Formats: sequence, structure tokens, C-alpha cells
Amino acid sequence: MNIHEYQGKSILKSFGVAIQEGIVADTAEEASAAAKKLQEETGTGWFVVKAQIHAGGRGKGTVTETGSHGVVLAKSLEEVPEKVNGILGGHLVTAQTSAEGKKVNKVLIAQDVYYPGESDPEEYYMSVLLDRASGKHIIMYSPDGGMDIEAVAEKTPERIFKEEIDPLLGLQGFQARRVAFNLGLSGKAFKDMTKFVFALYKAYLGCDATMFEINPVLKTSDDRIMAVDSKVSLDGNALFRHKDYAAMRDKTEEDPTEVEADEAGLSYVKLDGNVGCMVNGAGLAMATMDIIKLSGGSPANFLDVGGTADAARVEKAFRIILKDPSVKAILVNIFGGIVRCDRVAQGVVDAYKNIGDIPVPIIVRLQGTNAKEAKALIEESGLEVHSVILLQEAADKVKEVIGA
Ligand code: GDP
Ligand code: MN
Repeated sequence: MNIHEYQGKSILKSFGVAIQEGIVADTAEEASAAAKKLQEETGTGWFVVKAQIHAGGRGKGTVTETGSHGVVLAKSLEEVPEKVNGILGGHLVTAQTSAEGKKVNKVLIAQDVYYPGESDPEEYYMSVLLDRASGKHIIMYSPDGGMDIEAVAEKTPERIFKEEIDPLLGLQGFQARRVAFNLGLSGKAFKDMTKFVFALYKAYLGCDATMFEINPVLKTSDDRIMAVDSKVSLDGNALFRHKDYAAMRDKTEEDPTEVEADEAGLSYVKLDGNVGCMVNGAGLAMATMDIIKLSGGSPANFLDVGGTADAARVEKAFRIILKDPSVKAILVNIFGGIVRCDRVAQGVVDAYKNIGDIPVPIIVRLQGTNAKEAKALIEESGLEVHSVILLQEAADKVKEVIGA
């Protein structure tokens, strides 16, 4: 689960990671009050107004309605409302969003960490994530932060460093010092960076994150190290033990159909293709997507109806798949192990009747317990449903109906 920058920073802070302080706001009035409070607490005279959306590249991104960038400086308290109005309520388009962009519902008012703007602070890149190949956590970092890290990886890969952490041994002192050393630090900044790295790793483990990306990590002109941005992804399967983090979920940032499926207990992921898939079991779903590809089609979604593919779930799954206008055919591929195929077939027939006019052909492959009875049931129903038993037949039928 992804969360907003301001939420990520609050988690970081709770684990002792130094951050650029800020206060989130829903309106221009709240933003002004937030700026005033920040001024009292931090002494800053300049503020950064930051759009809160689940996408990076905000600094270079543009708000369609106003032309404002997604991260802007306000050089006085008076400037805050005007800068906020340029962002709040608009649609921010960045390199990581779609062409329509994402609606900005909240802004973070942060202290300007350059203030009072003497010498240029330095920006570093740092992320913590699990390396599945080695089974270890890694801290990835670069002295070339602030900018596009993909570009650094491509043009100057030697400027990206990795520290592998054995999960049983934990982060060692020499490793944190090596990070500070490779970033070219000395004195107070060196010490501050080792503390920062330790706190960051503790936060990553403590909140069951799947990824932390801090870009930039900043060295201020007075040698303090702090997180200026935060991109935090939490492990959805661990949220049951973090009720406070689970509450950070922002459903407006997610695909509405995926949210609806999730609420109905279906695992659904939207894809770019034209063949809708309804399958029980993740492994069979993957195999089904492969066979669709082989037959010249392209899956429009991943959908696992789960072990209890009863009539109600089958109907819900049809409704969800049909919301996608690019779907040209639906392939139902169910293995009747626990569930009986004739029951699922009845579910398909009922769903077909309840939904009414299903505008695309449906290919149904039911294999396993009572597969023959199921095939007969579908054929006798008189509906526009093609029933097959072999997977290859299903693939051929898909090819035929989409004309691939
Ligand atoms: P992103 O563009 O979505 O990654 O958002 P960031 O939070 O990383 O901000 C974008 C850029 O704004 C950063 O790379 C910084 O250079 C700049 N920025 C962030 N905070 C401050 C600040 O306090 N003062 C100034 N002058 N610039 C800032
Ligand atoms: Mn950033």
C-alpha cells in the first residue's frame, strides 16, 4: 500500500529519522495557519508548498488548470494562499501520472530547508528495499540525489552504491559509516548521516515496509541531514498489525474498480489488454494469461475469484470485468476442485440473466468435478456462451472471437 509524503514523514519521524518539518492542509486557510505555526516552531520565513499525490516528479510536474508546479516556494506568509490555490483542487501531471494527472486534495506546507538561502545544500538519494535475489535488505544510495535516479543509473551507474544487510545480523556500524563515507561526508554531517541511516533502517523494518525512497536526503548548510521527500510503500499483508497505518489508505488514489473488487473479496488487477479473465487461483490465472497471449490476445485484467466461486461472486466478477470498455471477450477458466463445476456453470448462467445484455462473447472452460454436467448446463441454457473443456480449445476460441 502506498501512502502520501506527509504520512511517510510522520512514520519516519516516529522512528527518530530527521525530516523537513511540515503540516498538511486541505484548504488555503488551513495552509496559512500551518505556515504561521511552522514559522513559530522552526523560525523559517520561507515555505514549500507540496502537492500530496501518490506519484513522484511533482517538482517538475504541472497543474493543468493553473500552470503551477507541484512543489513551489512561498517567500513569505502572505504568498502562501496564492501558491496553495495554484495547486489545491487542480490536476497535477507528472512523468509518473497519466496524461489527465491526479487531483490534488491536500497540500503539505513545509519549512524551506534552504532558508535563509546562503550556500547550496547537497541532495542525496537513498532507498531501502528487499532484494529478492539475495534475500537481503539493501540500502541503495547515491551522491547524485534530487534528480531523476533512473538517469543516474543509466548514465553513471558507478555513482549508485548498495549496502546489503543480512536480516539476521542487522545493519552494522561499519556499513552505516561506509554510506556516509561514499557520500563524501565528514565531521558532523558524517555522524549525522550514520544516525540517519540507522534510524531509517529501523523505520523500514518497524513499519513492515516494502520500500522506502528518500529523494532528496538533504545536507543543510549547517551540516544537518534530513529527509526532504518520502515515498513509502507498506506491505499490505502486514497491515493487520498496524491499524494506524491501515487508516492511512487513500482510496481516491487507487483504481476505483480495484477498490470495488477488493471490497467484494476478489483479487483484481487491471491490465491493458482486451480479453477479460475470470479464474480461480492465482497460478491458474497466470497460466490463463499466458495462453491468452499465446493465442494472440492480451489480458485485460488479472482476476482471482478465489476458492468459493459461487453464483454471487461470479456475477460480481462479471460486473467488474465489464466496467472496462476495452474488454472484447471474457474467458472464464475455473478448476472445480473444492467447488463443483456445475455450480459455477449455474452461476455463469444466472449472472448472464441478471446482468442482462452482456455485449461480449464469453468462453467458459470448467474442468474438474462435474465438468461434463457443467458443459451440458451451459449449452442447454441457450445463452451466447461458448463452452470448452480443454485449455487449448479455450485459447483457440478466444482467438476466433477476437479475430486475432
Ligand atoms: P518530487 O518532485 O515529487 O520528488 O518532490 P520532492 O519532495 O523531492 O521535491 C522536489 C524538489 O523540490 C526537490 O528536489 C528539491 O530540490 C525541491 N525542494 C524541496 N524542498 C525544498 C525546500 O525546502 N526548499 C527549496 N528551495 N527547495 C525544495
Ligand atoms: Mn523527490
